[in-house]
Amino acid sequence: MRKTSLIVLGLAALPAAAWAQGRGAAGGRGAAQAGPPTLLVPDRVWDAVDAAPHDGWAVLVRGDRIEAVGPRAQMTVPADATTIALPGTTLMPGLIEGHSHLLLHPYNETSWNDQVLHESLALRVARATNHARATLMAGFTTVRDLGTEGAGYADVGLKDAIAQGIIPGPRMWVVTKAIVVTGEYAPKGFSTEYMDEIPQGAEEADGPDKISHVVRDQIKHGADWIKVYADYRWGPNGEAMPGFTLDELKLIVDIAKSSGRNVAAHSTTAEGMHRATLAGVATIEHGDNGTPEVFKLMAEHGVCYVPTVSVGGRNKQAVLKMAVDAGVTICNGSDSGPVAHGDNARELEGLVANGLTPLQALRAATVNDAKMLGVGDKMGAVKTGYWADLIAVRGDPTKDISAIRQVQLVMKGGTVYKQP
Ligand SMILES: [Zn+2]
Repeated sequence: MRKTSLIVLGLAALPAAAWAQGRGAAGGRGAAQAGPPTLLVPDRVWDAVDAAPHDGWAVLVRGDRIEAVGPRAQMTVPADATTIALPGTTLMPGLIEGHSHLLLHPYNETSWNDQVLHESLALRVARATNHARATLMAGFTTVRDLGTEGAGYADVGLKDAIAQGIIPGPRMWVVTKAIVVTGEYAPKGFSTEYMDEIPQGAEEADGPDKISHVVRDQIKHGADWIKVYADYRWGPNGEAMPGFTLDELKLIVDIAKSSGRNVAAHSTTAEGMHRATLAGVATIEHGDNGTPEVFKLMAEHGVCYVPTVSVGGRNKQAVLKMAVDAGVTICNGSDSGPVAHGDNARELEGLVANGLTPLQALRAATVNDAKMLGVGDKMGAVKTGYWADLIAVRGDPTKDISAIRQVQLVMKGGTVYKQP
């Protein structure tokens, strides 16, 4: 089966031959087998390199890579190429969801506590397969999944199932369980007599010995990144307060980095963000109470900010402006899970509603997220030699961000999942 074959979603039988079974980095899997090339002909191409889309450009895909991109009129197209006409669309890089929880679903359906305590692992994984498909079909060809929230190492198996072509879904970078200090996280509110028996939505670790073991154990079980809660709502009045000491955070980062992995830190307090930045994390998630000083420090240390404007009650316009003014790289991540999977576009719309230009929001979800994942030279732009992760949307998203909801074509690694 060739790369131009449309994978029919909802059917049980996915032709295994359509998928390469390569191992290695998350991004390198799930590639189409080499065969005749495919020519994609939209109205315009936004390559994520130049600000403005290029009218009249086309993209030639061979195997799992982009073979050529440029003016259609000047492109040498092989005689055996299959053409996919995409009238009225902008072709652009597949979007990246930088903060997902494929093992969670919205809390208005089931509370977070009940998902963690009452939903079996099998139930959660079954749901997650739907979430993975919905995310891909919404044009998000990659996710960084930031914690299974009580579902153990299920993200690793989900990633493998997608990579092996068993289920459709985005490329995945996974963290397994987030790491917290004892008492910091949840579920909370149980009798002191048996609260030690209550399963937690993250893995507790304190002090050098336990922390060293937990970080290495998660890596052993398949973590691509390490996720920590630099703070959480465990203050005397339930307010967010830092958990790990600076030295503990430094140890987490040291161990992760010595294995070639980066650390993402959940943090909503200025002190948590400050410690996480000094410790050397790669990204800070949420950052609701960031200050100009802490964003300046993040910019100096090259820490990316994932504002997750889609969640949390506070209007993030002010903090987003502080971060942009300080020169911090903004990355895209919606906190999907709490946000419905497949509604990931909400974050880009939210970034624009909170002051970014459509171009800044699109860059957050393409080049910035790709660089954050360490694959900025392989994806996140429409460039010759890059992975053929491409979407076509009706309209021009650089002018109207809501165009990204009108997905006409989804291609990942040269395989077409949706086409007109
Ligand atoms: Zn999250």
